[in-house]
This record gives sequence, structure tokens and C-alpha cells, in this order.
Amino acid sequence: MAVADRISLLEAVREKVEAGERLDFEDAVALLESDDLLAVGELADVARRRRGGGDEAFFVQNLYLNQTNVCRVKCKFCAFAVTQKQANAYTYTPEQLVEDALAQRELTGFTEVHMVGGESPHVTFDYYVEIVRQLREAMPDVHLKCFTASEIHHMTTLSGLSHEDVLATLRDAGLGSLPGGGAEVFAERVRRLVAPGKESAEIWLETHRTAHGLGIPTHCTLLYGHVETYEERVDHLLRLRALQDETGGFLAFIPLAFHPENTIFERRGWTHTVGSDDLKMIAVSRLLLDNVPHVKAYWIMMGMPLAQIALHFGANDVQGTVVREEIFHAAGARTETEQKIDELVRFLRAAGRVPVQRDTLYNELRRW
Ligand code: SF4
Repeated sequence: MAVADRISLLEAVREKVEAGERLDFEDAVALLESDDLLAVGELADVARRRRGGGDEAFFVQNLYLNQTNVCRVKCKFCAFAVTQKQANAYTYTPEQLVEDALAQRELTGFTEVHMVGGESPHVTFDYYVEIVRQLREAMPDVHLKCFTASEIHHMTTLSGLSHEDVLATLRDAGLGSLPGGGAEVFAERVRRLVAPGKESAEIWLETHRTAHGLGIPTHCTLLYGHVETYEERVDHLLRLRALQDETGGFLAFIPLAFHPENTIFERRGWTHTVGSDDLKMIAVSRLLLDNVPHVKAYWIMMGMPLAQIALHFGANDVQGTVVREEIFHAAGARTETEQKIDELVRFLRAAGRVPVQRDTLYNELRRW
């Protein structure tokens, strides 16, 4: 693209952003194609601020749990799933999960449990309900963000119940919100290539629509950086935007960069996304998803230096502080956790932002 064309394209987008106009498919593809990274980032920051964003950078203290790594789906990008017969397969009982969570709670004051897992055919729907019920009973003040839309769909297969009945039962047992996983890339072409065993985009979207209708807020994601085109990324974002227009139930969008290690893609030579692509995805997400309140730069995944820059490219959240493995191995882990918060606060301040610890629903808990 000639330099003059690039400038006029970005100017046209700037005019729309400043006028509060919605960006369209062509705008977003052109932004992804642009090599003027700083200009794209600045536009996203302008859009974020024009929509009421301030200097806050949010984070949450959460505990990650996986109830099982047994999964029937076999997504080609997944290095986590195993079959029941593999030596490293596990399926924790609700009691084990509660015991683990309570032990972790002694060490760190997390306010959220983020739990997802494989789609095991060897459990029943009651297993999931019991997990939620027992965690709620053991930790009534902790928000339970559990099970992707794919897992909810799996529960309908296990139980014969509708999505609405599954979600309402889990909500009544104590479920607070759904994480955003399982969305991958909505385009049918991509799904066939990377996750042929997974439910369709329509089912993922319908599950979130149903959750929102039941008063269960959810998160949304895009797994980018594998076989998808820019057009397919934008199509994905626009489908999320359309659902958000309808329900308003998404709390945050999290772009997830594909990690090829230990997957078929690594053997075929795929490599990590580069930082400029990660930053552009954050910026274009912020620009296009004008109705989703928060965009996360997941620092544990992208690294803090890049996440600091992402806070100037439209992101306003860096996700959590708990890195489980380190906590497990830390003697006197209370100190360890405090150090993590101190370090995170230092990074966020150094990025020119005001660190704010939040709960899952973005209520402010502490400000530095
Ligand atoms: S459904 Fe989830 S756990 Fe199962 S293979 Fe796919 S990504 Fe992995």
C-alpha cells in the first residue's frame, strides 16, 4: 500500500473514532494490514478514552483449577488434553478440588476461581454441579468463573438437558460467570482445520446468549495466530459485537495468541506470534468491540513488558496475579503472593497506569 493511502486510511478511521462512529469490516482488516503500528495503537487508546476509559489498569487475584485433562475432542492446537488411558490423565473429585482450593486460600487471598477442563466422557453432569456446589459452600465469598461454553455444551450431551437447564442448574449451585474459552475462531473453514471435533460457532454464541439471558455474565476470546486470515479474525470480532449489542453480557474480551509447543503445528514449523501482531490484535479488538467494556492483555501469556505497551494500545486489564506453580513451590507463600502484587503494581505504575485490584465483575477492591 502506498504511504499516502496508508495515511488516508488511518485518518479516515481516526475521523470515525473521534466522531464516535462504528468501525466496519473493511476498517478493521485495513488496520490489521497496516504497518504503522504506533498509529494503530494510538487510535485504540483514543477510542478507549473517548468511551470513558481512564488511567486505571485492572487486575484480579485468582486461582486456576482444572478439574480434568481427559478430553474427547482432540483440538489440533491443544497440548493439554489426554485420553483416560494415558498415564498422566487425571480427574479430580469435587472433594479434592475443594481441599486444594482451601489450601491455596490459606496462602493467598484470591477472589475468583477460574476453572476449565477437558470434555471427559467419563463423568456425569452431577459431577460438575457437585464441584460448583461444594466450592460455593466452602468459599461463599469467592466468585466461581467456571466452564467454557464448549464444556456447557458437553454437559447437555452428558445429561440430555437443554443449555438453559444446564446453565440455570449451575447458576443455582453457585456459578458466577463463564470464562471465554472454546470460541477459537468462529469461521467454519478454520474450525474444520484446527478443531473439527468442537461444536459450531453458532452453538458457542447461543450458549453465551442463553447465559446472558439467565443473568450470568461471560467473557469472550479469540485464539489467533495459526491458520486464520485477517478477514476471519475480523468476522469473529464482529460476531461477538453483534451478540453484545443484543445482550450486553460480555464483561471482557481476551485475545489469546496461539502457542504451538507440543502440538501438531510445532512439528509443521509454526512459531509464536510476534509482538507487533499481539499489539495490533489488542488495538483492533479495542477499536472494533466498541460495546465490550474491557480488553485484557493477559500478561502471564504475553509477558509483562509487552503487556505494559498493550496498556497504551487499548487494553485496560492485565488479568491475574496467581501463578499456581510458583505458589506451590514457595515457602511462606503469603509473602510470595504479596511480592507478586507489589511487582505487578510496580509494572503497572511504570507503564503510567493506576493499578486497581478488581473482583470478577470489575468492582474496585483496592487502588494504589
Ligand atoms: S476441547 Fe479443550 S481440552 Fe479438549 S482438546 Fe480442545 S482445547 Fe483441548
